[in-house]
Amino acid sequence: MEGAINMDREEQRQKFIDIMAKFTAYTGKYLPDDVHARLKELRVQENTALARVVYDAMFEDLKLADELDRPLCQDTGVIQYFVQVGTRFPLIDDIEECLREAVKKATIIGPLRHNAVEVFDEKNTGNNVGKRIPWIDWEIVPNSDEAKIYVYMAGGGCSLPGTARVLMPLEGYEGVVKFVFDQITSYGINACPPLLVGIGIAGSVEVAAKLSKKALLRPLGTKNSNPRGAELEERIEAGLNAIKIGPGGLGGENSVMGVHIEEAARHPATIAVGLSTGCWAHRRAAIRFNPHIDYEVISHKGAVL
Ligand code: SF4
Repeated sequence: MEGAINMDREEQRQKFIDIMAKFTAYTGKYLPDDVHARLKELRVQENTALARVVYDAMFEDLKLADELDRPLCQDTGVIQYFVQVGTRFPLIDDIEECLREAVKKATIIGPLRHNAVEVFDEKNTGNNVGKRIPWIDWEIVPNSDEAKIYVYMAGGGCSLPGTARVLMPLEGYEGVVKFVFDQITSYGINACPPLLVGIGIAGSVEVAAKLSKKALLRPLGTKNSNPRGAELEERIEAGLNAIKIGPGGLGGENSVMGVHIEEAARHPATIAVGLSTGCWAHRRAAIRFNPHIDYEVISHKGAVL
């Protein structure tokens, strides 16, 4: 069986590139099921004409993106892939190269806005591929021959301007909450609300920052695995909603689609907090491949690529 897979390697590579190119372009046009459902719930909760008009504009935008086969927001972001790959997945050695090719193709078929600017040269590459872009986050899964890949379109107004800081230990969880509220009430609104707030808590700044982004990948409605963490999520969500930022930042019953916290054990002397904000156009999609490079779209029921 392994031999057969090796013989067909180039064919498998092309199949993988083709599927990932189509799936990446698809991600720019259709919101995942959970985000779509949450926006509908939030629309119903609004009492003012202005807030309802903003939600109606979002749904009109989604309808037109489908009808016209176009991205649902002009900022199709920097493409970030979060890869959970089994050690026995046949294309494990090829994934990075294949994903770079997939992004080039998706840029044409999307179309995707050209968003990769080489640092120092200050030159837009024109195909969304550059040094270390698309960004790939790796998780190696032992004893598995499958791969699960999240596509995330990180826009210039939403999660790309995330932030992170190491607090003094005595600032504790109150310090974490203060940091989140200070940030959301100042720069957070740059992401078009309602927001998805991703929070990472750890012992160092880079781990907290990374976890805050991974928190955005969790499906809406899921809770932190620790009951205390889940309670903190609920309390921050209630507090942020009480500010009533509303859809588009124009005021309304709610501010957020959800608050997700992911954590890592910390050093006794440090507590680091990271914050990433997703916008209403939360383009996060997930796909699973088996070793024959057959796929299943997890995030969008009935998706046709
Ligand atoms: S914040 Fe989101 S919806 Fe607003 S422009 Fe950026 S990507 Fe688009």
